[in-house]
Amino acid sequence: MIAVLDTSAILSGKFYFGMADQVVTSPSVIKEFSEGGHSWRLMQYSIDAGMKVIAPPESAIEKIREAAIDTGDMENLSEADVEVLALAFHLKNSRLFTDDYAMQNVASHAGIDYEGVLQEGIKKKFYWRYRCASCGKFVEAGIKECPVCGGKIKRVRWK
Ligand SMILES: [Zn+2]
Repeated sequence: MIAVLDTSAILSGKFYFGMADQVVTSPSVIKEFSEGGHSWRLMQYSIDAGMKVIAPPESAIEKIREAAIDTGDMENLSEADVEVLALAFHLKNSRLFTDDYAMQNVASHAGIDYEGVLQEGIKKKFYWRYRCASCGKFVEAGIKECPVCGGKIKRVRWK
């Protein structure tokens, strides 16, 4: 699998190199980073770790523009957004990593495999608490019956 990263994916500082055969982005994405500072260093780190910068062919950019006009997302996409979508469209066996809903929508319409960046991280961070289904009291794990009302204890997701 080739991981195609947009700006948000690069900024997440997540380590994509272990899960992908190749990590790529497009030239316009690199141009969105201004020199110096934390963001710049994250981008440089990705390049040092092996991220390749590849420009998609004009035919792929055209396809993405058509798809974005179809879905009504064109006005919400920057030049870099269109370019990185086109790159994901052009490369076979690639997955686009982005948190941008307009990009995800166009990706879905154009048949591009995609995955969120931060949403995915948040999903993994929840933990469980135990709570009475009747009165809502929180209890310790292992208690079967609510000490207040005798109601049933349910496991609930908690952030
Ligand atoms: Zn209760």
